[in-house]
Amino acid sequence: MKKQNAMPLEIVTIPCLSDNYAFLAHDAASGETALVDAPEAAPVLAVLKDRGWTLSHVLLTHHHWDHVDALSEILAAQPAKVIGAAADAHRLPDLDLAVSEGDTFTIGGEEVQVLDVSGHTVGHIAFHIPASKVVFTADSLMALGCGRLFEGTPEQMWASLSKLITLPGDTLVCSGHEYTQSNARFALTIEPGNAALQARAADIGTAREKGEATVPSMLQLEKDTNPFLRAGKASVKQAIGMEDLADAAVFAEIRKRKDNF
Ligand code: ZN
Ligand code: FE
Repeated sequence: MKKQNAMPLEIVTIPCLSDNYAFLAHDAASGETALVDAPEAAPVLAVLKDRGWTLSHVLLTHHHWDHVDALSEILAAQPAKVIGAAADAHRLPDLDLAVSEGDTFTIGGEEVQVLDVSGHTVGHIAFHIPASKVVFTADSLMALGCGRLFEGTPEQMWASLSKLITLPGDTLVCSGHEYTQSNARFALTIEPGNAALQARAADIGTAREKGEATVPSMLQLEKDTNPFLRAGKASVKQAIGMEDLADAAVFAEIRKRKDNF
């Protein structure tokens, strides 16, 4: 059942480990609270205790240790239903619900849509909640960047980013790491003349000086400044001298340059 004119889910960003982020999505009406990824137990449990929230779901984006390792410790304190990719069930912690692209479930009555965003890993999924205008992308689309291609091909990651580009610009992008400042330095090598990027890089510098997080970010800002999302733009192709190449090939070149940056 879809809620009409309901309060959007409340999103809390939780810094974990050295540069990871976990997120809580809380529905005040039902009390349901979903955790997205489990990098570290103490900070997650502290926020739950502080808010007086009870965990109902844990959503896992991909199998890497820095996204799943604290799961058992968190569940020992706060039992919850664990949801992750069916394709990765063999290498994820035990799942209560195994999902694939196109599947939906609900948190606090709001529909959560599953997107396959393979590339960083094959089997990485994202969770889009249209009613609350939020997408949890972890290590696929990141603030001013995208995840390194440990398992997938550039074509796979480009296909994944191309799905995320189609979401509304006012969608909040909750990604998995605080890598934004170094991403900004790299992005400026691709599009030094992009005024929106220059402004964002300055904002990021200010935020980091104050020790503030640069995650989450708005999707429209990513569309305007993130070089990995902009591989299909004529201006970007021109900037790196690849006017005649297909979008995915331009993405592959930008990803390769970042790997060597
Ligand atoms: Zn990862
Ligand atoms: Fe990660």
